[in-house]
Amino acid sequence: MQIFREIKPLRAFLVEKWRAGQKLGFVPTMGALHQGHLTLIAASRAGHPFTVCSVFVNPTQFNNAEDFARYPRNLERDVEMLERAGCDVLFCPEEAEMHSDSQYLKFDFGHLDKVMEGKFRPGHFSGVAQVVSKLFHIVQPDTAYFGQKDWQQFVIIRTLVNELKFNVKLQAVETVREPDGLAMSSRNERLLEAHRKEATVLSRCLKDAREQLLHGKSVEDVKKNVLDSFNQSEAVKLEYFEVVNTENLTPIKSVGDADRAILCMAAYVGGVRLIDNMFV
Ligand code: AMP
Repeated sequence: MQIFREIKPLRAFLVEKWRAGQKLGFVPTMGALHQGHLTLIAASRAGHPFTVCSVFVNPTQFNNAEDFARYPRNLERDVEMLERAGCDVLFCPEEAEMHSDSQYLKFDFGHLDKVMEGKFRPGHFSGVAQVVSKLFHIVQPDTAYFGQKDWQQFVIIRTLVNELKFNVKLQAVETVREPDGLAMSSRNERLLEAHRKEATVLSRCLKDAREQLLHGKSVEDVKKNVLDSFNQSEAVKLEYFEVVNTENLTPIKSVGDADRAILCMAAYVGGVRLIDNMFV
């Protein structure tokens, strides 16, 4: 695997691929890799002769300095995992390589970045859009792979690609879970042993909520039940639980509507913020 820390040499290397018309698959990440990320790499490798992965903990998408400082980082292990997964190129730039001091460029996605994650992490999606646009310009992939776990992010990146006419196909990959249902996340590394079991409350609630909605329970009642489940433990705190349209993220009143629904949730488990979602 070739490793690049700077844009110029990466471009000099990729220009040969672009000229030869070799299709590139791209997997942007913030590192501290796990099986979820490796599934994206595998999906890219299945569809492309060449796969680029980026590892960059992007400061502009963190609305909380402490969260940024505490975000797990382990580049050495990431390199090993990517080598074993058959990734061809790793781009792992320093902060100064990606961002200048002046952060003038901001993104506004209207309603899409004001709800759920956007509501509780103001500025988050502007930061995501900044860094993803830069990465798309640098790598110029044929297809970029993202996890369904960050569904709102996927909807926003799809909007970004449509609005800015990026010549990039997007692929969403199903969430990879631990055997007990917990969605894999780099943040799981920060869970204390005592809280690890409690973290299953997210996926359990989503599964139960889905069943209840499919059996005709109202969204309001299902929301109450989810809150009750969270109120049974001191260690967990629900931030939001929403039932929204998968495409435009507007609230859905009843699952009988023609729209496709997705259940989205964020919660703190022993102080660690986790998100999860499930299609109905
Ligand atoms: P992150 O490093 O957390 O920014 O994630 C990088 C990419 O991996 C994003 O597109 C995520 O949605 C995706 N991802 C994270 N966790 C999972 C998972 N458990 N299953 C599938 N994809 C994931």
